[in-house]
Amino acid sequence: MLGLMSGASTPAPGRLEAVRRFVNTLDIDAGTDALATPGDLTGWLRSASLLAGDTDAEPGDLANAVAVREALREALAANHGGEPIPSGALAVLNDAAARARLAATLTASDGWRARPAAGGVDGAIGALLALVGDAMADGTWSRLKVCVNDTCRWAFYDESRARTGKWCSMQVCGNRAKQRAWRGRRAESTT
Ligand SMILES: [Zn+2]
Repeated sequence: MLGLMSGASTPAPGRLEAVRRFVNTLDIDAGTDALATPGDLTGWLRSASLLAGDTDAEPGDLANAVAVREALREALAANHGGEPIPSGALAVLNDAAARARLAATLTASDGWRARPAAGGVDGAIGALLALVGDAMADGTWSRLKVCVNDTCRWAFYDESRARTGKWCSMQVCGNRAKQRAWRGRRAESTT
């Protein structure tokens, strides 16, 4: 239920939305994973226009993709307060970039950008990582975060002016946190 409701949280601008959707293929609160099988991964990458129709994901691809997804989730958690990407997550993302053979490519109007030289699923995951690089370059990356509620961790785009958004949704996780704080204060005042 929460997953459905938090699914309505603010989308990221442009192609960065594909990264947000990728992270949200795991709905922690609902306990559902849209990337449970290699076939799920194939379908998801095709629906995101990242994978050509003649390629299917293998079990090893699925393991790589899930590792990248969780490394991205850690990176998005670090975006609260502008923390650096944790070293373990950084290693996973760099391994995936190497498999995709991400290479600096001169674009017509956006300068040098990373683009995957590899095809197949490795290239498709590389294209997602290239979107991360593009978003870092245009300043939108730092607003992509995951909900600070540990049982949620849904990716959302923080549109708040002060960039201080903490929850996927104020109505759901924000209110839960406030109610916990309120109960905590009340417990203290009655002892
Ligand atoms: Zn949440």
